[in-house]
Amino acid sequence: MTPRLSKSRIQSGRQCQKRLWLELNQPETARWGGAAQTRLDEGTRFGELARDLLGGGLLITADHLHVREALAETQAALERPHTEFPMLFEPAFSHEDVRVRVDAFQRGEDGDTLIEVKSTTSVKGEHIWDCAVQTWVARGAGRHVRKVMLAHVDNQFVYTTAGDYTGLLTQVDITEAVEALQPEIPVIVATLKKVAIEPMPGISTGRHCSTPYGCPFLSHCQSGEAAPAQYPVDLLPRAGALIERLQEAGYRDLRDVPDSELPNGLLKRIAAATRTEQTYVSEEFRRILVAIPYPRFFLDFETISFVIPRWLGTRPFQSLPFQFSCHSEAASGAISHTGFLDLSGESPLATFIDHLLEAVAEEGPIIVWNKGFEASRLRDLAGMFPDRSEALLRVIERMVDLLPLYREHYYHRDMRGSWSIKAVLPTLAPELAYADLTIGDGSEAQSAYMEAIRSETPAHRRDALREQLLAYCERDTRAMVRLMTLEESGATVTRSSSPDR
Ligand code: SF4
Repeated sequence: MTPRLSKSRIQSGRQCQKRLWLELNQPETARWGGAAQTRLDEGTRFGELARDLLGGGLLITADHLHVREALAETQAALERPHTEFPMLFEPAFSHEDVRVRVDAFQRGEDGDTLIEVKSTTSVKGEHIWDCAVQTWVARGAGRHVRKVMLAHVDNQFVYTTAGDYTGLLTQVDITEAVEALQPEIPVIVATLKKVAIEPMPGISTGRHCSTPYGCPFLSHCQSGEAAPAQYPVDLLPRAGALIERLQEAGYRDLRDVPDSELPNGLLKRIAAATRTEQTYVSEEFRRILVAIPYPRFFLDFETISFVIPRWLGTRPFQSLPFQFSCHSEAASGAISHTGFLDLSGESPLATFIDHLLEAVAEEGPIIVWNKGFEASRLRDLAGMFPDRSEALLRVIERMVDLLPLYREHYYHRDMRGSWSIKAVLPTLAPELAYADLTIGDGSEAQSAYMEAIRSETPAHRRDALREQLLAYCERDTRAMVRLMTLEESGATVTRSSSPDR
């Protein structure tokens, strides 16, 4: 039987033919992450709003499981004069066993305009392919598509009036780029139809598994492959071309790579620590950490971003803090903790600022992990709240970033090429690693926040999420307190200076 393809299946097949084969033949082996549902919910809300912003029109209501009904509904609408239904949403078209639903389809005297809506802030290559497939199918189904537009989010849009999202979408004419791909579409369709009915392609996992989209079959595919090297060469950070060269030369495990193949001090240091099992700690690191004065404050934010801004004064995708944790340490060694978390769903920003300024007092270094992130959030807030701008900019001036210090002065082979706090902490203080927490990383914290602010979330569930979020954020700053006390870590100094860069 000829397999039926859709826009998303063609996209899967272009990314990896094995992915398409698995979608058609073993869909039950897919594993979607927890964040997928959150993204789906946001996507649905965005689609509904986009229809309003495009001026409204006739929605083809039959869902994706009822293709025949959707095709019939579309046909009936298209038989009416274009002046009666100039804009159709979600019309269905079919051509050579490829079926598509088009986000918006505008009919006019001179032909049709196909509009694809994306909740991104720019046009991406894969969007052009999506539209090229849709155009090919719509034309094959008899439509005269003259123009193709991509409507995406304008990241300069600021939400200033409640309920008014005029200007959130911006449209880009991509007709020329879509036309250029038209000759390729029937070739791709024919190839992918063959893939679907032939035995599963023998494709190994690699970079294509996450580009342009994460593949839900990753764990399934990996389970059928030989165990990866214990310290694969691709753990080397920011070394894409080098990794490819090493892999082509047959190196799988970093421990087998001679120093002469590695270009700079950092990569040599990582390889040496991995080979020798000896932690690298520069001699001056202790001195640097000890010299940081008291009182010390340790600060960490959790943030959320919305495609459709919810709070006045904010932009789409703006990273907005809803929680912080702050430990403070006096010269006497006394440590105290305070924090902030708002799960009301209303804008937490003004109260976040008030609590933050109180927590970090007036003086003393504010220690963070990756200053760029926290500082950007505070600069944003300073712009939005001019009356507190000066105080917020002073907080940034007091920040001391632990991340570059660790990158320069410390490496343990279990960090596997990463200096994220979650990679560093277990090497010095395994008792504080995040395994005992329900929330284990920032994206899980965001999913928890989104669930907590939903009106339908029961109070007992919201309370549980609150506890989990508080425990997670508190751990981040407690970890930093611990990472200042290198003296007690037992880590071994193995070099007094870095290899040449
Ligand atoms: S995990 Fe990678 S190799 Fe496996 S189907 Fe997905 S993209 Fe293809």
